[in-house]
Amino acid sequence: LMHLTRKLIEIRTMLLSIDQNDALKLPSIVVIGSQSSGKSSVLEAIVGHEFLPKGNNMVTRRPIELTLIHTPAKSGSLEPQEYGEFPALGLGRITSFEQIQKTLTDLNLAVPASECVSNDPIDLRIYSPHVPDLTMIDLPGYIQISSMDQPETLKDKIASLCERYIREPNIILAVCSADVDLANSPALRASRKVDPLGLRTIGVITKMDLVEPEQGATILSGNRYPLHLGYVGVVCKPSGKKSKRETSAEVAKRGEDDYFGSHKEYFGKSSSLMVGTTTLRQRLMQVLESSMASSLHGITNAVQLELEEATYQFKVQYNDRRVTAESYVAETVDALKARFRDYTSQFTRAQLRSKLKEMLNDKVMDIMEQLYWSDEGKAKELVSLCADAKVKPENVEPYWRYKLEAASSLLTKSGIGRDSTLLVADGLRALIDSIAAGEPFTYHPRAGERLIEFAHAILRDRIGITSDQVENCIKPFKYEIEMDDREWEIGRGKSIEVFQREISNCEGKLKEIRQRVGGSRRLNNLIGYVKTIEEKEMAKKATPQIDDSASSSDDEISYRYSPAQMLDARHAMLYSDRLTILKLRLAALKSKRCKAGPANDVLCPEAFLDAVADKLAYTASMFINIELLDHFFYQFPREIDSRLIYDLDREEITQFARENPSIRRHLDLQERKDKLEEVMKQLNSLASLRKDAQPPPRRQ
Ligand code: GDP
Repeated sequence: LMHLTRKLIEIRTMLLSIDQNDALKLPSIVVIGSQSSGKSSVLEAIVGHEFLPKGNNMVTRRPIELTLIHTPAKSGSLEPQEYGEFPALGLGRITSFEQIQKTLTDLNLAVPASECVSNDPIDLRIYSPHVPDLTMIDLPGYIQISSMDQPETLKDKIASLCERYIREPNIILAVCSADVDLANSPALRASRKVDPLGLRTIGVITKMDLVEPEQGATILSGNRYPLHLGYVGVVCKPSGKKSKRETSAEVAKRGEDDYFGSHKEYFGKSSSLMVGTTTLRQRLMQVLESSMASSLHGITNAVQLELEEATYQFKVQYNDRRVTAESYVAETVDALKARFRDYTSQFTRAQLRSKLKEMLNDKVMDIMEQLYWSDEGKAKELVSLCADAKVKPENVEPYWRYKLEAASSLLTKSGIGRDSTLLVADGLRALIDSIAAGEPFTYHPRAGERLIEFAHAILRDRIGITSDQVENCIKPFKYEIEMDDREWEIGRGKSIEVFQREISNCEGKLKEIRQRVGGSRRLNNLIGYVKTIEEKEMAKKATPQIDDSASSSDDEISYRYSPAQMLDARHAMLYSDRLTILKLRLAALKSKRCKAGPANDVLCPEAFLDAVADKLAYTASMFINIELLDHFFYQFPREIDSRLIYDLDREEITQFARENPSIRRHLDLQERKDKLEEVMKQLNSLASLRKDAQPPPRRQ
């Protein structure tokens, strides 16, 4: 029969871990009583040790789910035989009951003062050869008098917490002090509300030593407030001295031997009264067992129903497909690598080269602007030289040769190694960032961060090496550039394309401005206006001593057009100047002179620089490919393996998988189903065990 309670306690614990649904609860013994009724002393006498929090302040702020597990005594073993465990805390076995007491105190004190009491139970298991198999729930004591630091709401909070626990099927252990009239016992009052016939309430009368034996015997007889399960009288902490070495069990035994032993006429074997802690324990075991046994049928049905529902849902929602946190992580990683492979197809060498070329085109434009176009006279001179068929390239002034050399040198020495490497690295970074920002990393922000972190680390490692390498490989171009007709012709063609694009860009911008200011006439007026102002300003600078009237005319100006319009006018002027030059140069590029080949390089610098840029882009892309991309594409998937998964322990893997809500639901349902199946199996094995047992458990 012991076996049955033990099994049922195990099943009860499993059921509690499935959910807090009342239908799935096996009975436990709930201990209620007012403060100082001796509740803690009773529990400690049953366990045999002091382990509950003590203090003047209300110290039990959370329910304690106390599971006692009887372990066989091992004689001669050095292993501690008595220990406690807090499964939720993962502290392992605690062999010191003082430590258990301290942990309980800490857990209670962790409840913020504003909350006073918490509904969240503390799970404590005690293993010992000296305890019976029992489950008990210790609740905060009823407060009778509200004091200053215990607000009225606290009283209600405790009452409602207790109410929740004393519901069926739990057994109520109502602790009352012998020296207090039972009529005033909050424990009995609460129990009568939910169990008016007293069918599942046991009365415990504490501090029997404080009343006359006759009075004590009258209380225990239960005539005034009959309880079906009766009253048990105990003496847990007799008044008088207590030796330091005595355990709670020994103290209780001494007190009870003293008191009940010396009043055999009332409490002796011949009386039918129940007295003593030992009797109380046995009574509790009997009651719990028979109560559990009678819940068995109901609970089996309830579990069966829940299991059917869970099985059905699992079939419907997931088609019986099982997942594990590990399989989810593996799938996630595979998907991540596949996505990465897809994205990396953007980084072919041809694409890389054209990206670099684009960057260099911009540089060429800047150089042209800086060296050739800033002086309008010189720009026009070059155009006319180009158009003049009589001019031979070798006879052109050396000035133009120097210009070309300067331009070429500006281009080759513009920090191409660093710029091109950074351009590609930025592309990779953006790629990783977009992977990390997408599904499923929306659910796994920390993993996303890690992904970004190690991707950036790989890049950081390679950027220096790569840019040095590229810079080194383009070094020859800084000294000499050879060019054949074919290269020249390609450069000229590309340059024409670039100019055409640039021209249509400028025209687009001008058009935008024209629309914004309201047509070309208005724009022309505006430009004319801005020009007069600029002239005035020039004049002002030339003659610095000016009277105050000038500043008032300045104000007038700024009222006629808004600053934004003035800015538009200035931009429009810049764009149209640029357009003039661009068109001239485009015509030059298309001229016979430029078509004639590299011999005319000084007169057609754009074609020449474009061809140079192309050579640079080719070389740079080749080395970036080897030094940066290949490394990254090799390293990154390996880092995913080693940094994203392999250093996760089981718990972290589970945590990771559960971050995804759909996986969490899947895992939850699956786990619920598994647990219910397990409970069902155990219940069935119990049922068959009980069939064999003779006779069936006696009803109380
Ligand atoms: P709780 O507040 O209900 O947990 O009550 P405690 O177990 O802390 O006991 C309250 C007080 O009653 C303490 O001072 C105990 O020493 C005292 N007490 C407990 N049991 C007995 C007993 O059997 N006899 C006597 N005389 N005092 C007791």
